[in-house]
Amino acid sequence: MPLLQISEPGKSAAPHQHNLAAGIDLGTTNSLVASIRSGIAETFPDIEGHHLLPSIVHYSEMAITKVRDDEIIVGNAAKSFANQDPLNTIASVKRLLGRGLKDIKTLGTRLPYEFVENEGQGMPMIRTVAGLKSPVQVSADILKVLKKRAEKTLGGELTGVVITVPAYFDDAQRQATKDAATLADLNVLRLLNEPTAAAVAYGLDKGASGIHAIYDLGGGTFDISILRLHHGVFEVMATAGDSALGGDDIDRVIAQWIMQQAHIANDAEHHQIRELLDVARTAKETLSTQNTAPLNIKLDNGIQWQGELTHSQFHELIDPLIQKTISPCRRALRDARLTVADINEVVMVGGTTRMPRVREKVGDFFQRPPHIDIDPDKVVAIGAAIQADILAGNKPDDDMLLLDVIPLSLGIETMGGLVEKIIPRNTTIPVAKTQEFTTFKDGQTAMAIHVVQGEREIVLDCRSLARFELRGIPPMVAASARIRVTFQVDADGLLSVSATEETTGVHSEITVKPSYGLQDTDIERMLRDSLEHVQKDVATRTLREQQVEADRVINALRAALKADGHHLLKHHEFLEISAALDELLRVKEGNHVQAIKRAIEHLDEITQSYAQRRMDTAIHHAMTGHRIDEFTQEN
Ligand code: ADP
Ligand code: MG
Repeated sequence: MPLLQISEPGKSAAPHQHNLAAGIDLGTTNSLVASIRSGIAETFPDIEGHHLLPSIVHYSEMAITKVRDDEIIVGNAAKSFANQDPLNTIASVKRLLGRGLKDIKTLGTRLPYEFVENEGQGMPMIRTVAGLKSPVQVSADILKVLKKRAEKTLGGELTGVVITVPAYFDDAQRQATKDAATLADLNVLRLLNEPTAAAVAYGLDKGASGIHAIYDLGGGTFDISILRLHHGVFEVMATAGDSALGGDDIDRVIAQWIMQQAHIANDAEHHQIRELLDVARTAKETLSTQNTAPLNIKLDNGIQWQGELTHSQFHELIDPLIQKTISPCRRALRDARLTVADINEVVMVGGTTRMPRVREKVGDFFQRPPHIDIDPDKVVAIGAAIQADILAGNKPDDDMLLLDVIPLSLGIETMGGLVEKIIPRNTTIPVAKTQEFTTFKDGQTAMAIHVVQGEREIVLDCRSLARFELRGIPPMVAASARIRVTFQVDADGLLSVSATEETTGVHSEITVKPSYGLQDTDIERMLRDSLEHVQKDVATRTLREQQVEADRVINALRAALKADGHHLLKHHEFLEISAALDELLRVKEGNHVQAIKRAIEHLDEITQSYAQRRMDTAIHHAMTGHRIDEFTQEN
């Protein structure tokens, strides 16, 4: 039996703690941690002064024997193992995060690792000397290093972090990121889209409004996002990109060119290819500030090959790759129904946008110089740190960025197939709301809780999200149990609903993902429907409510008649009440609200004296065996 409502929604709960927080950019190539200190957002370096932590993890045999994290080598130190021990040195694990083995095989990247299918879970594992490692575990090992670095710098434990993810990450990839954080013993305040973080770092959220393009070319991914700032809310108007395009591809084309120049065979040893890639990367980075880059390679036959890469040769090699980023930019604009002229600001993100050639081409396309003041490889971490600081409660509430709102109202089914909205649409998240319900029938020991989403008044017109039951309610008279139902939506849009019976504390709960599988078009349709049907819905609601009230009266009266009707009522009274009850039963089936209302009123009138007699008897029973002063004493 569904719920019977008794009170209005409570106030928002879940206050934020005031404490140390950090922003983490968990990148494909490099990861960073940043925090706000003395009002300034800064990334934290390691002891050697490196801010970027290469997202590379090396597992050695020592890592199995000793259960210590520092036997797992992460970052620059792990990089040197990439050549000599590639099978146990995991790089670019972000590409594998939240992916199945099939997806990984279609990634099109040559991966040296040995994958093992993880039966049942679908999560592939990588075989290393330290045992099987899932991409989630490898990511957790990176996060642990960043956590330690931040806690050492800040001199205390982190209460929470904001971790950034690419805008195109799906549910599984986002969940895998959160799982990695949990494994690293981090409390995730929110997952934040990387482009939004970059916009925040440039303070674009402080403007009144605007449309911004965030161009992110990192090591392994390209992501273009069109964000619209409107009334303090960042709306992602469109995203496009290429999840297999980045600085790595630039390294590869340069390496291939060197192979041709130095006559290195295509089937060269793995270590030779790795060395070529390293040389290529150094040359590329040099060319961001110099006109030519020297090339030095020790070939497998012992000969030292020397060459040079010039700007013009370099541009010839990389222009097609840069050009590959332009068509997603066009697509994103088209999806957002915009033209280049509508864009107010262009923000550069990712180490590859340090390349002057990229800045030039992107500036040409958008017809305005892009923002480059903040290091493009730090900008995401900095934005995440700013957001973490706010979410951790270190800022006044009005600084809160309204990043995410609930697209459709969330509620539950109440008696009569009606929807009681608990969290209205457009509420910003995270949010928690509680409402009280009660039992409908005497002795009711279970309650069905049906969670729905939508704007309509009738359950059948809304989207069903989940059902669960609260069992073990102690048998009580109808309407005397107090059941608190709490809806909580976390910063990632995950909804959990819990129900607790107050006297016994019996508890039940469920977690659902309300936006899962919901397209913008679905949301539009559901909103349109609710507007079109508003009058009909209100009428239906009034009727259903009257029918529920009729049921309640009928149930209560039947129970009373069964208990003492023959004893307390004269025969003609009994007949009169029975007739009125039958009349109510009859009109209740129709759709005449006033008729039901009148029948209830009539029944109420003719049962008043009966109710009085019942009350007297109850008091008499209650007082039997007690002294009268127990009842009169003030206490
Ligand atoms: P991700 O977001 O994928 O982790 P980053 O934003 O850290 O990656 O970008 C890493 C990429 O940036 C690498 O391919 C690296 O070679 C490239 N990169 C870093 N510095 C420069 C530079 N000065 N010139 C050109 N490319 C650079
Ligand atoms: Mg990045």
